[in-house]
Amino acid sequence: MKKHNFYAGPSILPEYTIEQTAAAIKNFANMDLSLMEISHRSKEFVAVMDEAQQLFKELLNIPEGYSVIFLGGGASTQFAMVPFNLFKNKAAYLNTGAWSKKAIKEAKLFGEVDVVASSEDKLFNYIPKNYTIPEDADYFHITTNNTIYGTEIKEDITSPVPLVADMSSDIFSRPVDVSKYAIIYGGAQKNLAPAGVTFVIIKNDILGKTGRDIPTMLNYQTHIDKESMFNTPPVVPVFAALQTLKWLKNNGGISEMQKVNIKKANLLYDEIDRNPLFRATVMDPNDRSLMNICFVMNEGYENLEKPFFDYASEKGMIGIKGHRSVGGFRASTYNALPIESVAALIDCMQDFKKKNK
Ligand SMILES: *Cc1c(COP(=O)(O)O)cnc(C)c1O
Repeated sequence: MKKHNFYAGPSILPEYTIEQTAAAIKNFANMDLSLMEISHRSKEFVAVMDEAQQLFKELLNIPEGYSVIFLGGGASTQFAMVPFNLFKNKAAYLNTGAWSKKAIKEAKLFGEVDVVASSEDKLFNYIPKNYTIPEDADYFHITTNNTIYGTEIKEDITSPVPLVADMSSDIFSRPVDVSKYAIIYGGAQKNLAPAGVTFVIIKNDILGKTGRDIPTMLNYQTHIDKESMFNTPPVVPVFAALQTLKWLKNNGGISEMQKVNIKKANLLYDEIDRNPLFRATVMDPNDRSLMNICFVMNEGYENLEKPFFDYASEKGMIGIKGHRSVGGFRASTYNALPIESVAALIDCMQDFKKKNK
């Protein structure tokens, strides 16, 4: 049976990425060797790394003066690397969920953290507005897409201090004005590649201002100077990321992705809003994520949660269980998820309503 992959991460990748990577694992660049057993310093792999950096910059329209690096350690390591490299006296953070909280926890190891606003009072089901970013902060940190709760900051905000964004789960889903950010980072396993590689986009002139000694591996400058080859990079995930970037380019680039993502999300949110069995957890359409669509059983139908899960699973829906802290359901609609999968989930919801209402 056809599976519809709604996992939140690691998550669906383009078939192209999987096929190209599978082929390279058998025979990489006609070397008659596997991608898994060649030197990262071979000219064939150096070419992969170079092209991945180039295409990353091209697709996101990254201006001059920025570097793109690929690291290990996941987005979670960035929670500490950001303050190591930027924190002098005080940092400002927006608290929009569990990932924000983890980032805040690491920043607090370095000194004063001003949490300018939080949506924790309502289990993070909205994006706080009307907060003030302190002008004496060294930087302001946001999580643009809150993978667990299904909220998203879909527009590039303006910050009086260097803006740092965790874009783990919405990178490449919409055009971004990179010039508004000092650092953008993310684990690649949501919208780009298999787990194991982390991307960081850094405005070069933001670095070197803390006066702090930074451990070599945690210093962005180390990796910028060595073009992500200071130590062994995650070779297979970087190769896979390049394939996804090529796929993106061949499918119209990011603005085309955004169009399809909006279409997919609207279809599903419309069904959730229309179907009396379900309700969305995020009410304000401006705050609704285009990548992770969260919904629960409506009042009076709570007992149908498990039956709907079982019904949808039988029909091939995979990974729709909501995060344990929210419950209900979460359908992740990343770039590689075809619109047919969204239609299949909607069919399930409609058929299930007919059977139960
Ligand atoms: C998944 C996720 C993370 C954690 O990424 P790791 O690579 O597992 O460390 C951080 N932030 C956001 C927004 C995420 O979705």
